[in-house]
Amino acid sequence: MSKRFHSEIRKQLNTIISSGMSKTERVLATPQSAEIALSDGKKVINFCANNYLGLANHPEVLKAAKNALEEWGYGLASVRFICGTQSIHKQLEESMSRFLDMEDTILYSSCFDANGGVFEPLLGEDCTIISDDLNHASIIDGIRLCKAQRLRYKHSDMSELEEALRQSADVRIRLIITDGVFSMDGDIAKLPAICDLAERYDALVMVDDSHATGYIGKTGRGTFEHCNVQGRVDIISTTFGKALGGASGGCISASKEIIEFLRQRSRPYIFSNTLPPPIVGAVIKVLEMLTLSPNLRNHVMTNAHYLRRGLTEAGFDIIPSETAIVPVMTCDENLAVKMADRLLQEGIYVIGFTYPVVPVGKARIRVQLSAAHSLYHLDQAIQSFVKVGRELNLID
Ligand SMILES: *Cc1c(COP(=O)(O)O)cnc(C)c1O
Repeated sequence: MSKRFHSEIRKQLNTIISSGMSKTERVLATPQSAEIALSDGKKVINFCANNYLGLANHPEVLKAAKNALEEWGYGLASVRFICGTQSIHKQLEESMSRFLDMEDTILYSSCFDANGGVFEPLLGEDCTIISDDLNHASIIDGIRLCKAQRLRYKHSDMSELEEALRQSADVRIRLIITDGVFSMDGDIAKLPAICDLAERYDALVMVDDSHATGYIGKTGRGTFEHCNVQGRVDIISTTFGKALGGASGGCISASKEIIEFLRQRSRPYIFSNTLPPPIVGAVIKVLEMLTLSPNLRNHVMTNAHYLRRGLTEAGFDIIPSETAIVPVMTCDENLAVKMADRLLQEGIYVIGFTYPVVPVGKARIRVQLSAAHSLYHLDQAIQSFVKVGRELNLID
């Protein structure tokens, strides 16, 4: 035991805590849903989960998970290539490929792992990765693990992207990587322009559709469907931990060659445990439900429009977008924190985001809609926002 080390860490921890930037974890006393209870017994309406389709505690999803648990067991106690592949894993890979309109799919324990394992095997030091500067942390870490050169472009700035493509003209492979939906503003990547540029400069396109798969696009396939760029995206990574049920797990979908190569070389796939059967069975069920009916994705989008309109009419400053992420700007940092606290007292659970998660002066409350929300929940939220917004002089 090094006393010195422990006291150094304690000091750093105190710095984080006194900066007001520390993360506190609220403990829930119920399953994840539109209405939840916190451990102190307080009942709140939840507007901060990524439970877009309301499937995290949906009876059909629970049933599919239980059935898979009983038929296929709790866990595999193995990685895929030793003795950890069951027919349901192959079935989920097929369903996912069909859903994303790709040739093949490889499963990971999380999308964080998927992004951690995709770049390093595919790209070497004679390649370049070109990345939107607001991409998710898992993409940034995945890129760090890879020997390829790195270029960044300002968020969704297509002329900077083109400049990066010009600069990297002589490398072997170029890959453009972007989030499909950006989680802080809820905006969608400019995929038509990105695909145009990729074709002009012979680059690959990869989209991380974690905040989109299941509910963005006419049938919920994701941003490629919304942007009408089917067949023009080379690689999609996504999570099962958001719209597709909310448990955990992720995948990469691409051509047969890319996926087979990843099965041979992707380290988080080769050296980490197989996805547990209950999750696999549940996600298969979710994809079946989404293929049969667009009701859930229509419902979350209707909810998002309703809340967006209600808050805009009340005078709030909302960042426009076509997703179920509704950022209500306070701009002032303290105001964002105070407002989230007051809303929680009113029974509305939302999170205030401040620098450095968002730029200085762009503090906000992020509201996330779910198909599990009813009109009653939305009206409660609007009422509380108006009450607290007036109290804090954010609106008249
Ligand atoms: C949430 C998220 C991830 C991480 O997904 P997990 O499956 O929870 O690891 C990766 N990328 C993006 C863009 C995300 O929003």
